[in-house]
Amino acid sequence: MPRSVTPQATAVIRSRRVVLPDGERPADLLIRDGRIERIAAHDSLLVADATLTDLGDTALLPGLVDTHVHVNEPGRTEWEGFATATRAAAAGGVTTVIDMPLNSIPPTTTVEGLAVKRKTAEGQAWVDLGFWGGAVPGNADELEPLHRAGVFGFKSFLAPSGVDEFPHVEQADLEKALAEQARIGALAIIHAEDPAVLAAAPQQPGVHYRDFLASRPDDAEAAAVARLLDTARRTGARVHILHVSSAAVLPLLAQARADGVRVTAETCPHYLTLAAEEVPDGDTAFKCCPPIRDESNRDLLWAALAAGEFIAIVSDHSPSTPDLKLLKRFGGSGDFAAAWGGIASLQLGLPAIWTEARRRGHQLTDVVRWMSAGPAALVGLEGSKGAIAVGRDADLVAFDPDAGFAVVADELHHRNPVTPYAGKTLTGVVRTTWLRGRVVDVHAEPFGRQILRTR
Ligand code: ZN
Repeated sequence: MPRSVTPQATAVIRSRRVVLPDGERPADLLIRDGRIERIAAHDSLLVADATLTDLGDTALLPGLVDTHVHVNEPGRTEWEGFATATRAAAAGGVTTVIDMPLNSIPPTTTVEGLAVKRKTAEGQAWVDLGFWGGAVPGNADELEPLHRAGVFGFKSFLAPSGVDEFPHVEQADLEKALAEQARIGALAIIHAEDPAVLAAAPQQPGVHYRDFLASRPDDAEAAAVARLLDTARRTGARVHILHVSSAAVLPLLAQARADGVRVTAETCPHYLTLAAEEVPDGDTAFKCCPPIRDESNRDLLWAALAAGEFIAIVSDHSPSTPDLKLLKRFGGSGDFAAAWGGIASLQLGLPAIWTEARRRGHQLTDVVRWMSAGPAALVGLEGSKGAIAVGRDADLVAFDPDAGFAVVADELHHRNPVTPYAGKTLTGVVRTTWLRGRVVDVHAEPFGRQILRTR
């Protein structure tokens, strides 16, 4: 393991596979005061006062930026907390996490709620940490002060969120929220499933995944996205569609972009690497909303990714306790309809995506674009995060792209040992994570910083 260095120290990191924005090449990085000061030819830097870390053939990536993480603290800390989530992030090569505004109590829908979150997170962040706000019915007046206080934008749900203290927006609330966000220049991030389509879908509880899938049809996403895009067009708001699962959404996005609507979209590792066909009866670790769909849909998501239609792949890490998941191995019923919906796997996003991306002929450069540069740009952090480039924070990951490992739920750092990847073999191992030039040791003191919106 490389030695840890203080933020003021000078370090040289050398690898034959440095993943730069324009491709992979051998290089030396000079790190000073936590930033990348120089990128030089491989084996060329001789700096008297610098520590040298030679990674050999292990790849060097920029730290991943995960803009979709539900930490749940305070209020539901037994589901997940800042310490466990950010340790999992660091262990998975994620150096920046933006926390979602709900499932914690209070939710981040007021300036006071943000202050509570920030105070709670103090001293508990192993990676850099920012916050989303929430736009819910009745809090339009809170958006501008929250935005000024540094949240990266505002999440709204078009269908029930799953928790009472974060209600979804009906059309009138959505109009109001988007109009206000257009006025203040905020980014609206939206959970897009349509409640009317969901209500009309067949509801068959039980252990069969097919029944659950039928209860959250493609149409629920498509209808919600169509309505959202229409509202964005009229209000002029900049919108981002969270966790796109259905390929039925893709033509709507393309049309809206052609019409000049400011819209981006993300998808998640579980939609790109798992499929409905493989979900075992009663294995509710796979339950999330919108749901994991079939293999043909997954192929369409990969094609869209390759075509640049998604700005980011982010985890949507949304854990709960095993009992709320109704997991069979914890004595639960395995009923998909009643189980908490959410995938817990923040630590596994990089190897999960790399395993599948490589199989489909993609490069590490692509993965970095989807999981680091893209999400950094989404939230306006491209000046400091998202690339190995001069002047950026030295947030780095040593990644062995050829090593494999078997996923053991109990060995992951997130709080509850639940993951749909349990037992799978993934390719790609995170060896070391650096945050602003310092090696992150999840067993030592944390030094992650709270970050605020700058754009
Ligand atoms: Zn989410």
